[in-house]
Amino acid sequence: MTRSRLMRAVIALVAVVGMAVLAATLVPDATAVASAKQAPVLVLRVHAPTAKAFKALRKNYDLLEKRSGDDYFVLGDAAVQKSLKAKGYRVSVADTLAPLSPAPTSTLRAAATYATFYGGYHTAAAQQQHLRDVAATYPTLATVVDYGDSWLKTKNRGGNDLLAICITKKNAGDCALNPNVPKPRSVLYAAIHARELATAEIAWNWIDYLTQGYGTNAAVTSLLDTTELWVIPVANPDGRQIVESGGNSPYYQRKNADDARGNCRRPPTSSNQYGVDMNRNATFHWGGVGSTNTACAQEYRGTSAASEPETAAQQALFNNLFKDQRGPNITDAAPATATGTFISYHSYASLTLYPWGDTTNAAPNKTKLKALADRMVAASGSGYTTGQGPSILYGTSGTTDDDMYGRLGVASFTTELGAANTSCDGFMPPYSCVGSRFWPQEQKALMVLAQAAAGPYR
Ligand SMILES: [Zn+2]
Repeated sequence: MTRSRLMRAVIALVAVVGMAVLAATLVPDATAVASAKQAPVLVLRVHAPTAKAFKALRKNYDLLEKRSGDDYFVLGDAAVQKSLKAKGYRVSVADTLAPLSPAPTSTLRAAATYATFYGGYHTAAAQQQHLRDVAATYPTLATVVDYGDSWLKTKNRGGNDLLAICITKKNAGDCALNPNVPKPRSVLYAAIHARELATAEIAWNWIDYLTQGYGTNAAVTSLLDTTELWVIPVANPDGRQIVESGGNSPYYQRKNADDARGNCRRPPTSSNQYGVDMNRNATFHWGGVGSTNTACAQEYRGTSAASEPETAAQQALFNNLFKDQRGPNITDAAPATATGTFISYHSYASLTLYPWGDTTNAAPNKTKLKALADRMVAASGSGYTTGQGPSILYGTSGTTDDDMYGRLGVASFTTELGAANTSCDGFMPPYSCVGSRFWPQEQKALMVLAQAAAGPYR
């Protein structure tokens, strides 16, 4: 054991004790304490060289958005490791994800004035307040749109409004909930998977960069004069609040808070939790590869397409922002005159994906989609691999990006923020990684994406 490993083990032990105490306080039953005692959470590297071995792995374990050749990564604990070995998989521990000490410093503003957790990450409530503050500070540039209610809110169990912000140099008709508007639109969408912490901070920084840069930064000024930039910083606020409820030991909640089905663990564990995976719940090709009917599983797709209020509300919003620009057949390309770009942020595979996610067949606009993905990555300097999910990660269906392209013809991407083999790796990297690494890279990628909104397929 190296010194740093030893340190991490000590920190993990402290975290275990802390988590058990917290869990016992929050939910004082034996189940909660038992599940908390399963920490530390391990990232297990699992060799699955055949389709059959992969399928069984995905069905029964919490597969991470990460892959290396025929090695996949599973979130679990010592018991999960044992069960994998018993099933004949070659398994090693790639990492221990027990939360580290919070990063003490931040290069970003506002940590002092907005509520944060885990060393600086903004809470879902702070993200909402930020949108309102930006709109109040920059009334000629920013408009907040309440586009629906979260699952808990629809059940009168607390919950959240679903908020987006439209940023542009406002003229009459701009930011209207109507696809027939003068300016093309680019959408940044984050934190659909609640535990992927850095994604929402990219949204926060993008909002500040645009509003603070208007009139001082020529590229930003030109962008806001010609384009509407829409941002949904926390697509899954209920899920985010479950994550946050762990404080400095955030819970690994991925899905929304829909607990109508299943008898899942409370508090959530990394592999057994309530909720619907909103990134398997979208209408386009719902119910296909890489989704499951098992309620407590990570890739639970819900009872029907857009069953979740969050999914239905965002699709209604997107239908109001974009015309249907693609024909009904899978091979119908969106025309060169099509407008609109979209990105969904995830963690932590170091990839930029473009449609299709559920097949290795090429999307009809693949050449232009790939070219734009490559340009984003080149601008960012992130070195992320670009491609289709089934080729470079694994197949998925009912995802937001496939839905945006499949139903509406919008040029859509998923970027998996990542930093393999560095201290910024994982779902919950130290907050300082946002300022030191992820934001500087994505700021450049987002400018490329936003500037392409007028003609992504030209
Ligand atoms: Zn994700």
